[in-house]
Amino acid sequence: MKDWIKKIVQQFEVENKSTHAPEKMSEELATLLFMIDVYNKNLLDTPKFSVRQAREELDIFSKKLIQSGALENEETFFQLRQFFNAHRIDETTYFLHAFEDFKKIIWEFADQLKEEFKDQKHNDQMINGQFKELRDAVESNSIDKLREKSKEFISKYVEVQNKKDTNKQKRMNSIKKNLNQFKKKLTEAQHTANHDHLTGAYNRRFFEEQVRSFSTTADMGDNKSVMMILDIDHFKKINDTYGHDIGDFVLKECVATIRKLFTRENDVVARLGGEEFSIFLPDYSIDMAIKKAEDVLETIRKQAFVHGEHQIKFTVSIGLSEWRNGDQLELIYKRCDQALYEAKNTGRNKLVVAEKLKAVA
Ligand code: GH3
Ligand code: MG
Ligand code: MG
Repeated sequence: MKDWIKKIVQQFEVENKSTHAPEKMSEELATLLFMIDVYNKNLLDTPKFSVRQAREELDIFSKKLIQSGALENEETFFQLRQFFNAHRIDETTYFLHAFEDFKKIIWEFADQLKEEFKDQKHNDQMINGQFKELRDAVESNSIDKLREKSKEFISKYVEVQNKKDTNKQKRMNSIKKNLNQFKKKLTEAQHTANHDHLTGAYNRRFFEEQVRSFSTTADMGDNKSVMMILDIDHFKKINDTYGHDIGDFVLKECVATIRKLFTRENDVVARLGGEEFSIFLPDYSIDMAIKKAEDVLETIRKQAFVHGEHQIKFTVSIGLSEWRNGDQLELIYKRCDQALYEAKNTGRNKLVVAEKLKAVA
């Protein structure tokens, strides 16, 4: 069986009651399972669907499909279509609303500027009118008229200036408030866009952006860097034994533990999805990284994570590889993945360095 199919099927530890053995699974069914898996690993919390609910539903679909081993499961397919329809629409609506909010703030800001200009124009017209009357008074050669118009002009001018000042102050305050609100929303949006909502680690998108931008600048020098992929061992069992809440707790604790060990400003600790994490260490030697990875293994292995009356122990497996000049992101991912796969297949709770494997990409 192809590795990627095996990996997907293994996630579900379902008994295969069908006459179709998993190794005979069709490429179509495996592809569908793959797509469900990708969707599952990149879910978004929306007001209607929590990531948890969606994940549970998708897990049920996948299990049913694996168990039946066929593409003829009408009922499941119907539910799956319904699920994708509702969920995708909900995600899109959520995004559009967030976008509308931003637009509203910008519009309000623009409206205020427009008002300011309108007011300014009105005042200018009034002053110009007063000027004209003053000029007429000068030309009329009447000292009384001139005195009267001069007084009027000065008092109007002062009035306009005062009004301008208070209006301006009001506008400035309101603009300032809007700008602060806008800045806050932008900061929030940026945080959400770069981070994983559950663990607070960076997300895959940000991680890849960082590695890519690093590799563009690093190509010019001869810096060495290292990437690791870390995967919790038998995480499914933690979920099955203690429930999803404790599963989530373990994910958060795992990130907190890793973060404490990678403290340099440029170290990027990210959640790739599910219980898989990646770490990018710019300007780092492979030997230093191996030591660090051993620290991670040891720290997690030794610790009992306490949640209520439970003391949870778990281990992780790590695949790591050196970043070489000119490396494409996909290539280093692949090497780390191969190393991780080897760590999983040779007992877990250990690290494997891609460069030490016989056949590496
Ligand atoms: P292995 O040692 O081979 O890595 O086995 P495993 O059980 O750790 O890995 P597998 O990939 O088979 O299972 C991962 C499980 O993680 C399946 C999925 O339901 C669960 N999962 C994914 N995301 C989350 C999450 O955010 N919270 C919780 N509680 N579970 C999650
Ligand atoms: Mg795992
Ligand atoms: Mg995994």
